[in-house]
Parts: sequence; structure tokens; C-alpha cells
Amino acid sequence: MSWQGVIHQYRDYLPFDADVQIVTLNEGNTPLVAAPRLAELIAPGANLRLFLKYEGLNPTGSFKDRGMTAAITQAVAEGSKTVICASTGNTAASAAAYAARAGLRCLVLVPEGKIALGKLAACLAYGADVISIDGSFDEGLDMVRAIVERQPVTLVNSINPWRLEGQKTGSFEIIDQLGGQAPDWHCLPVGNAGNISAYWMGYKQYGKGLPRVLGGQATGSAPIVTGKVVEKPETLATAIRIGNPARWRQALEALDESDGIITAVTDEKILESWHLLAKREGVFVEPASATGVAALKQQIERGAIDPTNKTAVCVLTGHGLKDPGTAVDQATPPISMPADIDALENYLTS
Ligand SMILES: *Cc1c(COP(=O)(O)O)cnc(C)c1O
Repeated sequence: MSWQGVIHQYRDYLPFDADVQIVTLNEGNTPLVAAPRLAELIAPGANLRLFLKYEGLNPTGSFKDRGMTAAITQAVAEGSKTVICASTGNTAASAAAYAARAGLRCLVLVPEGKIALGKLAACLAYGADVISIDGSFDEGLDMVRAIVERQPVTLVNSINPWRLEGQKTGSFEIIDQLGGQAPDWHCLPVGNAGNISAYWMGYKQYGKGLPRVLGGQATGSAPIVTGKVVEKPETLATAIRIGNPARWRQALEALDESDGIITAVTDEKILESWHLLAKREGVFVEPASATGVAALKQQIERGAIDPTNKTAVCVLTGHGLKDPGTAVDQATPPISMPADIDALENYLTS
């Protein structure tokens, strides 16, 4: 039978009722791409086996779909008619898509001017009520937390436990794709810290070994690294522009239990890894998604991680087309020339 989404695939590991109607877009089953050129670049001669879990290939272009199939399936099972979330964009796009599929109304709160174009376009296309607030993601999350106390709407941010249930399937897939073993290092960006918590839950539940977890935050929004809420988080990696992570405590648990590391990487370093992914491995991601790679590179450079004969998986959380604006801004502009064969030949041979 062909792939029918993460709930169907990992049903035995998920706490759904037997008769639940699954809302799915056949998410998951994303490729684990070997990255030998990048491995040699960040750890020369070390025989680092580096893999990229390309979550940008999910139906709405980010890993959020793993959690959303679960959250929306459960919302429908509980008779909900309306779902709501605050979002830097990807949760919103995913909620909008799965809500559309289930026939639910979907409200998404996004920080004005801080949502990447591909995410906004998707939310609008899926027909969500897109509400642009004059405030941060964190303020939006406070608003949705308060409204669900007053109105019969279901919150689908990652404080909803079903989101983590769905997202933990990423660990199952990685282990299955590595032939039944966990990697030595599991590297990923950390924003609201739902994903790091979910992956750790998944590794523990699957019982096939545990990785050490490496989380990366952007220097301008690194509350878990510094131990302090960031009032005005800043980073061009908008998906992790979060100053007060809802899953902070679980993230610390994952780091502690796995003997992991959380580190801050500058926007420059994030962009450097973002370029390397695209130019050395042909994998185009949104900037935040390069943070796990940037964190790994940095910790190897600092001597905090010994890459020798290790296996590392970096989760690439979202697709590059999510944020075409940053991609174009960061690129060398196209070459202009007349529509003329000699001009082309001159260029080619110069
Ligand atoms: C949501 C998101 C993150 C951060 O995940 P958290 O669970 O909030 O820590 C990172 N990258 C992308 C592309 C995302 O959409």
C-alpha cells in the first residue's frame, strides 16, 4: 500500500481512538538526503556521515504538517468547528490547509510585516482568516491562549499536545531510514521548542537508541541559550523569531536527558549554512531551516562536538520557496546581456 500519512503509518505509537477519521494530506515520508560534500566541508577528513531530513517536502512545505494532521484529526473527533493559532507563518499555512480539508474555520494571527511571502500566500489561498497583528508572535500566542478560554475554538499551536504526537513521527522516520538506529547527533532549529520536544519524545518512545540533541537558536532570539525571555526577538530567520518559547521546559529536559547542547548562531552564520546547503548540496531551504547545520558547524569548529566517524542528522524544517524575498535579497543578481550569441559566448569564456 502506498504512503497514507504519518498517523496511518505510525498508528500503533499514537494515542488516537480506534474509530477516528484521519485528516491527512499524506504528509511525512520525507527524504533523508546524504550530504557528503557538506560533511567534508564542515568536518574535513573526519568521516562524518551527515544527513539532511528534508521536511520542506511536506504538503505545505514545512514539518508543521506532521503535527497538524494530528491536531486537526483530534479537533474533528472532538466536534470542533473552528481552529486558531498564532504563527510566524508555517503553522498558519499548515493549519489553514488541514482545516480546509476538514471543513473547519481557521483563524491565524501573524505578526504584521514579519511573515515571509510564501507563507502568507499559502494562508490566503487555503482560505484562512488571516489576522495581522501589530505585535510579535509571543503576543499573538498570548491572545490565542486567552480566546480559547472564552470561546469554543481549538488552539493548534504546539502547546496542543496532539501537535507533538504528530511531530514525533519524524524521529521514527529517521530511525527507519537509517536502518533501525538513531543518529549520534540530531540537529535542529529551536523557536517555540515544540519540535525539539517532539523529536525527543519520539526517540524515547521508539526504543531504538537515542541521539544527542543539538539545538540552534538565532543570536537575536536565543532565550533558551541565555536563560532569559527576549522581549524584542530579532533575526532574519523569521520562523524562529520567538522570545518566550512555549515548550521551554520540555526543551531543557530533552537537552538534559540527551546530554545535548543548545547554542546561538548569528544570522551571518545561518545565512552561510543556508548558502552551503543550496550551493553545495542542491537543497534549498528557508533561512531558519539552516540553523541546525550552522549550529553543528559552529560546535565542530569550537571543538564541542567531535565529528569523527559520527552520524548526524540535520532537520531542514521548511522549503526555500517559503521565503523568496530573503533568497533574492541574499543572492547575486542575475546577469543582464543582449539576446545575442556572441554576448553569451563572451560571458561563458571570460
Ligand atoms: C516552526 C519552525 C521552526 C521552529 O520549530 P519550533 O517547534 O517552534 O521550535 C523552525 N523552522 C521552521 C521552518 C519552522 O516552521
